[in-house]
Amino acid sequence: MTIIGSGLAGYTVARELRKLDKESPLRIISADDGGFYSKPMLSNAFIENKTPESLVITPATQMATQLNAEILTHTQVTQVDPQQHAVYVGEKRLEYSQLVLALGAKPIRLTFEGDAADKVLSVNNLDDYTHFRAALQNAKRISIMGAGLIGCEFANDLQPAGFSVTLIDPLKYPLGQMAPEKVGRTLQQALQDLGVSLYFEKAVKRIDSTDSGYRLTLTDDSVLETDVVLSAIGLRPHTELAAAAGLSVERGIVVDRYLKTSAEDIYAVGDCIQIEGLVLPYVMPLMNAARAVAKSLTGQLTTVNYPAMPVAVKTPACHLVVSPPPAGLAGEWEIEAEGQDVRALFYTPAHELGGFVLMGAKVADKMALAKQLPPLLA
Ligand SMILES: Cc1cc2nc3c(=O)[nH]c(=O)nc-3n(C[C@H](O)[C@H](O)[C@H](O)COP(=O)(O)OP(=O)(O)OC[C@H]3O[C@@H](n4cnc5c(N)ncnc54)[C@H](O)[C@@H]3O)c2cc1C
Repeated sequence: MTIIGSGLAGYTVARELRKLDKESPLRIISADDGGFYSKPMLSNAFIENKTPESLVITPATQMATQLNAEILTHTQVTQVDPQQHAVYVGEKRLEYSQLVLALGAKPIRLTFEGDAADKVLSVNNLDDYTHFRAALQNAKRISIMGAGLIGCEFANDLQPAGFSVTLIDPLKYPLGQMAPEKVGRTLQQALQDLGVSLYFEKAVKRIDSTDSGYRLTLTDDSVLETDVVLSAIGLRPHTELAAAAGLSVERGIVVDRYLKTSAEDIYAVGDCIQIEGLVLPYVMPLMNAARAVAKSLTGQLTTVNYPAMPVAVKTPACHLVVSPPPAGLAGEWEIEAEGQDVRALFYTPAHELGGFVLMGAKVADKMALAKQLPPLLA
């Protein structure tokens, strides 16, 4: 068996597999150094002065021993050949009996005008975090594009660490795609109280170098001076390898409820997949999927179920849990708010709970409300 990818998805499949089958040969191929780490830590690592090395929980050599696996690190798979049951690393051909694609997702890159358009950073793995920390060495001012979950988390991490942070988003308020305005405004206030500057209903259109850093020109022609530009506008599933192999690909690598791709003996899990139209780049969905795949790999063909899976937003300035309603679901928000304690419940016209966002003390209602939500995949 072969797994491509050593992120949370690839390693969770391997761990679950080893609970069921300790001996079958297992190969893990990873473009990175194969160290096991928790990616969600990346957006609140700076304030704790975490180095990339200290974020690695288990290095690849130990993972290989623990998993009784061969781990090929710094090894980029360049081609998958489903007919031949082989993957290629350049000219080198490696056969598989069953293959799991756990390729993750890549930051979406926007194009900008200006001579420094290519200086935008994003943080989606440990190497990115290394570059980001290096860029922060002599920096004071950081501009973050995107006030979604990850942009707000970085702002909440970096401002208290002594930087001057600006958040820029084309929507009206933070978390504008998943939460009602009351929630966004409460989070906005909490970030402003920390000292974060926020620019809404504007986007960056131009990035130019200056003597001391960069000048950002926004869509309303306002201008901002900054030392570092971080993009947190979202991720796109890694589909190129699968598409080139002829696998069915839409927004993500298309899998069925067994996590099977359109090719025989090839499964996919994690941020790279699309299942029944859903692309859910979070930890809980990949854990559920990895457990199902591990069973299927050992011959017990198993479907994945997705219960409602609320996500905790790591903004200590304002505790927050989101379980947004599925895109396109009709309904309205009902909101109770007292200061930072906000309970926003999304009800369908039949008065069924379709989603929720909880803030402050109301976060305690998470489990009870999650039980009332319909599963995302029953
Ligand atoms: C800053 C940040 C904060 C987050 N916070 C949260 C949170 O609080 N809660 C939550 O639920 N989720 C959070 N997430 C999302 C969560 O971290 C991801 O859903 C999860 O880590 C994805 O794991 P993965 O294994 O699918 O992908 P990845 O971790 O991206 O792993 C992909 C692997 O595939 C390898 N690879 C890719 N292409 C090839 C190739 N051609 N050949 C060989 N190897 C290849 C890569 O090297 C890598 O090892 C956060 C994400 C980020 C970026």
